[in-house]
Amino acid sequence: MKLTILGNNGPFPSVGGACSGYLIREGNRKILIDCGNGVLGNLQKFVRFEELDAVILTHLHSDHISDMMVLRYAVQIKKARGLMERTIDVYAPAEPVEEYQRLNVNNVFNLKPITETLVLNIDSLKITFTEMTHPVKCFAVSIENGEKRFVFSGDTSWNQNIIRFAKGVDLLMLDAGLLSKDKKSDNVPHLTAKECGVVAKEAGVKKLMLTHFWPEDDVKEHLQEAGENFKHVEVARLLYTYEI
Ligand SMILES: [Zn+2]
Ligand SMILES: [Zn+2]
Repeated sequence: MKLTILGNNGPFPSVGGACSGYLIREGNRKILIDCGNGVLGNLQKFVRFEELDAVILTHLHSDHISDMMVLRYAVQIKKARGLMERTIDVYAPAEPVEEYQRLNVNNVFNLKPITETLVLNIDSLKITFTEMTHPVKCFAVSIENGEKRFVFSGDTSWNQNIIRFAKGVDLLMLDAGLLSKDKKSDNVPHLTAKECGVVAKEAGVKKLMLTHFWPEDDVKEHLQEAGENFKHVEVARLLYTYEI
């Protein structure tokens, strides 16, 4: 199973960067997790969007979905010109309702709600979900291929659910949207890099990957903070592909 980083910033991109977007490839299967601004352009460096088996949106904040609005145009025009027949399966939390409805474009997206009981089986891949703690409904995603398992938190602040859900995974990718110095209260929407290290340690994962970087931060600080509690940590590098 391969993971390619198509965007690693939030809530806005760095110069030449992109917000949340991650491509999972296993055999011929291609799944896009999140589709923030800049992701559609980067996706096409690796695969054609027509080939996507599914798009999974962890939540409906703009830095995770904004390129869905232009993917819509791409598919609509390709279909009108007879260049594409498929309708892409899109999975997303059903709220906020107005954001969910914006994605509900017939014949372009086959939109289905994510719930905690949803299980997707795409060839050898099994995909499951659990709810996180964020200002809008957000789900962490687990993808396993029978040998390896990958978990991505989406956006979240500290909670026990991610520790339970990520127990022993081969790769855990976490929202490290904050450094400790920027956590001014407990009421924040993201994990600090330090908290990411604690989650990885308590979940007993094999490897931790940090993402969702504030564009003006130096990721060396994230590595250092997370490394205080967990040694096997790296940052998600834009356009890099990792074997899970
Ligand atoms: Zn975000
Ligand atoms: Zn968010």
